Amino acid sequence: MAAPAVGIDLGTTFSCVAVFRNGKVEVIPNAEGNRITPSYVAFTDTERLVGDAAKAQDAVNPENTIFDAKRLIGRRFDDPVAKADMKLWPFTVVNEDGRPKIQARFKGERKSFFPEEISAMVLSTLKNSAEAYIGKPVHNVVVTVPAYFNDSQRQATKDAGTIAGLNVLRIINEPTAGAIAYGLDTPEEDERNVLIFDLGGGTFDVSILTIEEGIFEVRATAGDTHLGGEDFDARLVEHCASEFARKYGLDLRKDKKALRRLRTACERAKRALSSATQATVELDALYGGKDLHAVITRACFEELNQDLFQKTKNILEQAMRDAKMGKDDIADVVLIGGSTRIPCVQQMVKAFFGKEPSKTVNPDEAVAHGAAIQAAVLDGDPSEVISDLVLVDVTPLSLGIEVVGGIMSVIIPRNTTIPTKNTKRYYNSYDNQTEFLIKVFEGERKMTADNHKLGEFILSRVPPLPRGQAAADVTFEIDADGILHVSAVQTVTKSTNQITITSNKGRLSKEEISRLVREAEAMKRDDEARREAAEARNELERICWRGQRVGQGRVRDKCQSVLDWLSDVGAKASAREIASKRQELQLLFDMANLKI
Ligand code: AMP
Repeated sequence: MAAPAVGIDLGTTFSCVAVFRNGKVEVIPNAEGNRITPSYVAFTDTERLVGDAAKAQDAVNPENTIFDAKRLIGRRFDDPVAKADMKLWPFTVVNEDGRPKIQARFKGERKSFFPEEISAMVLSTLKNSAEAYIGKPVHNVVVTVPAYFNDSQRQATKDAGTIAGLNVLRIINEPTAGAIAYGLDTPEEDERNVLIFDLGGGTFDVSILTIEEGIFEVRATAGDTHLGGEDFDARLVEHCASEFARKYGLDLRKDKKALRRLRTACERAKRALSSATQATVELDALYGGKDLHAVITRACFEELNQDLFQKTKNILEQAMRDAKMGKDDIADVVLIGGSTRIPCVQQMVKAFFGKEPSKTVNPDEAVAHGAAIQAAVLDGDPSEVISDLVLVDVTPLSLGIEVVGGIMSVIIPRNTTIPTKNTKRYYNSYDNQTEFLIKVFEGERKMTADNHKLGEFILSRVPPLPRGQAAADVTFEIDADGILHVSAVQTVTKSTNQITITSNKGRLSKEEISRLVREAEAMKRDDEARREAAEARNELERICWRGQRVGQGRVRDKCQSVLDWLSDVGAKASAREIASKRQELQLLFDMANLKI
């Protein structure tokens, strides 16, 4: 039997994979035994690292350690949000035909990667973890995205799945997944409003959903794409660095490595402060030969971050205003994201609503948890626990085309349950018009100039007729992933055309995706070969050490020379070279009557 479909929370800073089996959700640990995996990929002279291993070495290899691919995915190079982020990253992003590509040195060569490729590497690692855990090849997945992700960001996320060799059954909204994790999706008679407060490592999102008979409607979203655990860490780092400067007159901020060590220690202290009222940051010989020793109280931590916590409250209020709801209209408040473990954040939310928020599901696993349930539903899992679920998502933004005067004519209004299809008829706007230019937009504003353009195409062979007499039917179809297909048909000549959105969007072409799939597979084979070589090298080294211990004369000399060779060639030795050395040793060991 094939492996069940899994749910993946592809996060900005951390990702998580879970599976629904035997009537319950199981979060899948990675190779290092951790239940969440940093969304990091690093390139070195010899290898590619993903997840914990990549994050662990970012202090020594910052230019080639890539993170935050989610902030770039599906965006154009000149997107103002992307541009602002680029200034903050230690790695370089270049413009390739209007699309951003991330540069890194890999095995001594300069390479560049699409954000989809980086996300695919993270997805592929999660796929490996899932396969090791389930014991079968995994293909089908449900991947989550923020509720505000537009069509091209969703498409690009799906493409990342394809590159990783996965079949993305569906893309669902993170807050929807969070609500599912809490079982708030049970088909009830009455509608209920749920507020999802998601404070993660790098981003903060508030979503208000209305759930009715298993249908999720996003009523409002608000957030800050640069507010989360990393900002709280930064405040602690700043605090410790100033204390250090005050005590020793030394500015450790100049030293990247010291700064990285301090950041890691501060993050650990921050986590400890969620359960203890006091934590220490201790680092020997941190900078200029001086040790850092700081005691941080919870009160101090809260004071340092007070304005940031206040900001989350303001955003929460904003979302409530946008949804035109009062506190009493919210039936459930759900906390997700690792940073909602901070007691002060929990208290603020509790005080705001005057009731205890739901936090029984691990906050950094809730989204993957919900995605796994959705995956099981799509997979047709017969378990009773999920048999009642009808899971429906809605379009986050209105979709339409531009008509005369730059006005947005909506074909599918926002919050329409998907999948959906709608057709509208449009007429020529001047006499003898032989072509219709169909410009597709998404957004809520009246004028298309204020909305986001998704693409355009031309419908030709329109019969030349007086204004208002030649018509075309324009059909918008949104599939279950929230992905849009647009087509137009001329009513008389039946000429048709449909959108190739790729040209004007941050999306990859089919050919590019196929190429990237091949490259990703090659890289995976490369990784495997490297892993095998590393194992063979360890084994060879073990044999040499043993030979030195138990052997004599030629055996010992040979072992020493192989050890020298190993230390010379290092990680560059190929599996074949290692095998031949092993064979030579085998011969000598046999002659000396020794067991290898
Ligand atoms: P997420 O992106 O949802 O996985 O959240 C990751 C963020 O949660 C990181 O910034 C972590 O430092 C933070 N985090 C995890 N556990 C705790 C904790 N016990 N207390 C405070 N912050 C935490």
